[in-house]
Amino acid sequence: MGSGASAAPQKALLIGCGIAGPTLAMFLQRIGVEAVVYEAGDEPRDGAGAFLNLAPNGLAVLETLGIVADVEKYGTHTTSTAFLNHKGKVLGENPAQTLLIKRGLLNKALREAAQDRGVRIEFGKSFESLEHTATGVVARFADGSTAEGDFLVGCDGIHSKTRYTVLPEAPRPEYTGVIGTAGYTRSDQAAPADGVMRMSFCLKGFFGYQTIPGGEIYWFENFHQAAEPGRGELDKVAHETWKKQLLAKHRNDHHPVSAIIESTESGIIGYPIYDMLSIPRWHRDRVCLVGDAAHATSPHVGQGASMAMEDSIVLTKCLRDLPTPEAAFAAFQSLRKERVEKIIKEGRKTGNQKAAANGFQRAVRDLVLPFFLKIGVKATDPVYSYRVDWDEPVRRAAPVQA
Ligand SMILES: Cc1cc2nc3c(=O)[nH]c(=O)nc-3n(C[C@H](O)[C@H](O)[C@H](O)COP(=O)(O)OP(=O)(O)OC[C@H]3O[C@@H](n4cnc5c(N)ncnc54)[C@H](O)[C@@H]3O)c2cc1C
Repeated sequence: MGSGASAAPQKALLIGCGIAGPTLAMFLQRIGVEAVVYEAGDEPRDGAGAFLNLAPNGLAVLETLGIVADVEKYGTHTTSTAFLNHKGKVLGENPAQTLLIKRGLLNKALREAAQDRGVRIEFGKSFESLEHTATGVVARFADGSTAEGDFLVGCDGIHSKTRYTVLPEAPRPEYTGVIGTAGYTRSDQAAPADGVMRMSFCLKGFFGYQTIPGGEIYWFENFHQAAEPGRGELDKVAHETWKKQLLAKHRNDHHPVSAIIESTESGIIGYPIYDMLSIPRWHRDRVCLVGDAAHATSPHVGQGASMAMEDSIVLTKCLRDLPTPEAAFAAFQSLRKERVEKIIKEGRKTGNQKAAANGFQRAVRDLVLPFFLKIGVKATDPVYSYRVDWDEPVRRAAPVQA
């Protein structure tokens, strides 16, 4: 900790073992803070969920930790992204390279790297409530157990219990009007494993896929739906129901969209997409939020995981260089807020552009998209090229008013 801190080693309670939790724990270990990660799930769910693309800015954080190879071994590279219209005409290409990885495997890679470094991770610990003591915090879990630490960080995702508990006035996640679906399959009708992610503006939705070496196809689909589904409602939709619905939506789109959906034998999932454009404050007393808990973005710009990683290194630097957790949390928020909110806004805009269009709108889009794509690629430069210098010291920030 910073120069004003006591000599005793600090103990951090990290709530949630997704992406931010284990990444932050590894950084904190570097500055001599003992971090214990408490995860609500009873056991790791390495096979669960969809997939994501880890952008160069996220990979740069992993490089600082020296764990790029540990993560890369579970993924494959996307060497470019091609954008197509519903007829299969290529409208443009984004040459940025990212790491394509199943979400569960990214969690596994980070968890394993943290455990290899001696980080303690406890499963079956669902955070419930918090008490402040004279010197720190006590977290209470649903199983009745408690844990005491000098400070607590909520790494518990978009529906963060930490945020609801500590900052009850914070805005709630907003449904963006988009439903996501995703699946895995194999099909000889799809493009080969050439490193290209193909994304199509379809007649009634947006479809993306990439074939990875070995032949597995990762695909996702987004469609607009004004009504927000109830919590957990989409988890109950059966694979065959999704398949039927998606085949009906995509029957007039270019080959091989329907073939990919048709070949998917099991496991199609659906999820409502949420974001939070802005949360006025991310911390109170000895508690701070990071990752989706502080600034959830929709997946359309592929930045949520990378931002959670950036948060981890920046927050640790603040804790290293500033005298108290409170000062560190204030500096952390002021260093991060503008960047992440810009990205969240961009994500919302991109999601809206995926909406189905009429014939005229499609024709205009096909005409202007190549031009806008070039601008878009330029706009992602500052996002992708962002690097946090571990050695550069952090200066104190003005505290954020409640
Ligand atoms: C379909 C989809 C596609 C995406 N695609 C991309 C992409 O391409 N690129 C990208 O960068 N990002 C993408 N994202 C976003 C990315 O997944 C998130 O931004 C990222 O996971 C946030 O990390 P986190 O650690 O903050 O939260 P999470 O990864 O959500 O982890 C939160 C953890 O906290 C645990 N938890 C929750 N409540 C409690 C509690 N009360 N007590 C203890 N533990 C708790 C959860 O079980 C979970 O393990 C996508 C998201 C989705 C849904």
